[in-house]
Formats: sequence, structure tokens, C-alpha cells
Amino acid sequence: MKKVLAFVILTLILSISFAYAQTGYTNISSIALYNDTDYSSKINDTLKISTKLHILNETEDWYYVKTTSGNTGWIEKYFVTVPSQRFVVNNTNNQINIRTSPTTSAKAVGQLAPGEKIKYVDTYHSWHIIEFGGDECYIASWLTDIEYAASQEIILLYDTINIRDNASTSSNVIAQGNKNDTYKVTGEKNGWLQIRLPDGKIGYVAGWLTSYDSNYFSEGSQGHKKTTDELNLRTGPSVNNSRITTLKSGESITVVETVDGWSKVVANNGIIGWVNDYYLKDVYPLSGKVILLDPGHGGKDPGAISFSGKYEKHINLEVTNKLKNALEALGAKVHMTRNSDTYIANKERGRMADRLNVDIFLSIHHNSLNNSDYFGLSTYYNTIKYKSPSQGYNLAEAIYLNAITINGVYRDGILDRNFEVLRETNRPAALIEIGFMSNPQEEMNIHNVSFQNVMVEKISNGIVDYFQQ
Ligand SMILES: [Zn+2]
Repeated sequence: MKKVLAFVILTLILSISFAYAQTGYTNISSIALYNDTDYSSKINDTLKISTKLHILNETEDWYYVKTTSGNTGWIEKYFVTVPSQRFVVNNTNNQINIRTSPTTSAKAVGQLAPGEKIKYVDTYHSWHIIEFGGDECYIASWLTDIEYAASQEIILLYDTINIRDNASTSSNVIAQGNKNDTYKVTGEKNGWLQIRLPDGKIGYVAGWLTSYDSNYFSEGSQGHKKTTDELNLRTGPSVNNSRITTLKSGESITVVETVDGWSKVVANNGIIGWVNDYYLKDVYPLSGKVILLDPGHGGKDPGAISFSGKYEKHINLEVTNKLKNALEALGAKVHMTRNSDTYIANKERGRMADRLNVDIFLSIHHNSLNNSDYFGLSTYYNTIKYKSPSQGYNLAEAIYLNAITINGVYRDGILDRNFEVLRETNRPAALIEIGFMSNPQEEMNIHNVSFQNVMVEKISNGIVDYFQQ
């Protein structure tokens, strides 16, 4: 009896602390979780980008967090993105089931009444994840709306961003905003945010052009450098600050800030510190890497046909051309399986990767289902012939974790699939489905030039991460 009571109390305490905890996500590819609010303290863990964190406490510059694998520690706020507080609202006239997993066949554990709200956590596989009774549960996104808690804000990431009178790229432009402009945000639908303009009018802005807060992600700059000599990593920007460690000559680091000849860097294992600029040189992070990009389908094979009648083969080639340019700018040698609207068998595409002996093979696609409710981004690898994570999973994961940092891009998973195009090569291979062409709203987003540019940048970052693992 006593044991039961203790268990009940413990469950109650855990669910209360859970209910009040905010959720954040790491926004840089590799970052240390420290034992204290101090760069020279012990490292408890090294976190990948998009790692989900429960925020338990904070100081001015640091969060004390717990990861889903149970590790706790301190991380600088600059490397964490904290989404606005949101609610899911039942916008139908019927009760909606709350389920234990993202499928209509999952067990229903409760219901949401018409007009009722519940705390939103995230979106996965076209279902909203909500907090229900201290647990994370799922509710159908197509039956609900997302509403923001009062006074939540978003900031713009670029200049001359169009603000429209409705949530689509074809709606009228009613205003424009610039980088770092801040707006009150009230709702979210299909990757678009509903915002309040200074004159009180309601407008809509594409989610992928926004961020929830100012931090490493919103600054949008990645300084890829290498050390030219053995180099002391210090706790601050001068020789008077104590030494944390010595970096090896030729080590890759990311510069996140520069002050008076000193750079704040993130080095191996995500450790942070300051180094003298004199011993750093710019590098092309993909220099020497050979990549085969595969725009899916082509010729007699149109791929998916979109809600509005567009062919997947064309948009695959459009996005792949952009990605080729982006990867070349980072120093890679890039081949393509096709440069025009021609048919190539899937196994031939995979074998091309072997013949060219490329470092990686990436196939670019856009998804489709006979149910237009579904949306989201997914990446794929194959373990039928190749069991090692380095053969595909690591690439699929690195691209996925970067792509889902984009606001308005929703998670659909990193999946093991027996796709011919992945199976027919012995090189590390992955496939991305950027969005659903069968969903009318997501289709409009994926044809938008600014969406494609942001997506290509994030896929490129994922490829850089893959090679730096
Ligand atoms: Zn396809």
C-alpha cells in the first residue's frame, strides 16, 4: 500500500514537472551538454542538431535540460531554439479521439470536445503530438487548428519578406518585413504563420522564413574553418582566460562569433571556447568529396502527379539543380544521374554511383498518397544489402535533422525502405521525400522558390554534417 502511494506521488510530481517544462531543440550540428554553466566543466553528452530537450531550469545565458535519453546538463541558450507555446484546438463539431500513436487504429485514451484546447508539443506523420495527462499523445492534424499562446512572437530571417492576406503563396501581398522584424503570432496552418501587423491587421507569413527566437539558427551563418597549428582553446577572448584544451592542427571547427581577433568556436565533440583568429583558415567543407545527385523519375516516368496536375519529375530536377550549385559552392564535385527529362531505370541510377565511386548518393523526390490530408518530410535508407549505419542511415539522419529545423516543415520520419535505387549501389545512399504533392497546401509550398532555397541550404548542411561525423 505504502509502495503504491509513493508511486502515485512520484508519478504526480513527474507529471507536474513535465507539464511545466518547456521544450527546446538544439540548433547546431554538434554541441556539448556541460555539467555546469562553464566551458571548462565536464561534458555530460554531445548532442546532434534537432535534439529534443526538456528545459528544467535556466540562468541568463544557459538552460539546464534533460534529453530524451535521460542525460541532464547545461547548454548555452544561443544553441537552443525554443518554439512558441502552442495549443491544438478542435475546430470540428464532433469529439476527436486522442490516441497513443499517430494512426487511426491506435488506442484512444481520451477525447477533445468541440472548441476545446490542449497543449501542443510537435507534429509527426501528419498527427499533432499533444500533452495529455502527463503523457505525449496524438491527435489528427486535419481535424484541428494550432493556436499560439498570448504574446508569443516570431522573427523574420531574411529581408523583403512578403506578408499576405491568406496562408498561401498565391494570396495578395499586404505588407513586407525585414530580417529581425518581430511580430505577435496567433496561429499556424500548413507551414504558414498567422501574425498581427503593427496596424492591427492580420497577415500570413511563410513559416520557413521565420524563427521563434534570436540564436545561432536565426543568425544563419556557418563559419567553416580549420586550425593551421596546434591551438589553445580558452574560456574567453584573450590569453588571460584559462585554457580548456589544445586543438590539433588541421581540425575542423565552426566559428559562431568574432571579437577583436578572437573567435568563439564549436570544436570536436561540440566543445565551445575561444581561439586566436590568426591560426584559423577558411575551408570548403566539402572539398574533395564526390557526390551523385539523382533527380527521381524522368522521361516516360512522371513520378507523382500533384494535386494541381504538376509532375514530380520536373520539380525533382528543379530542386536537384539548386542543390548541385549549393554543394559545388561548398567545394564538392557533383554528378547528376540526369540533367534533362530523360528516363533512366532505378537500378541503373544506383550502379552509376558505383561506377563513379562517389562518396555519397542522394536521390531527390516529392511524396504522394491517395489521402490529401498527409504532409511532411521524410528520408530513407536501406538495410536489405547494407546493414551498417554508415552505408545510408547516417546520411538520411543528418539530412533529416537539418531539414526539420525549418519552421513549417513537419516530421514524417527517417525510414528503412527497400527502394531499388538505394539497394543497387554499394556506396552510402539516401533518399529524401521533401513534401507531399498530394496535399494542396504543401504542394504550393514546395513549388515556392524561397521554400526551395531554404530547403537546399538545410540539405547541404546535413551533407556537411554527415562528412564531419
Ligand atoms: Zn518519386
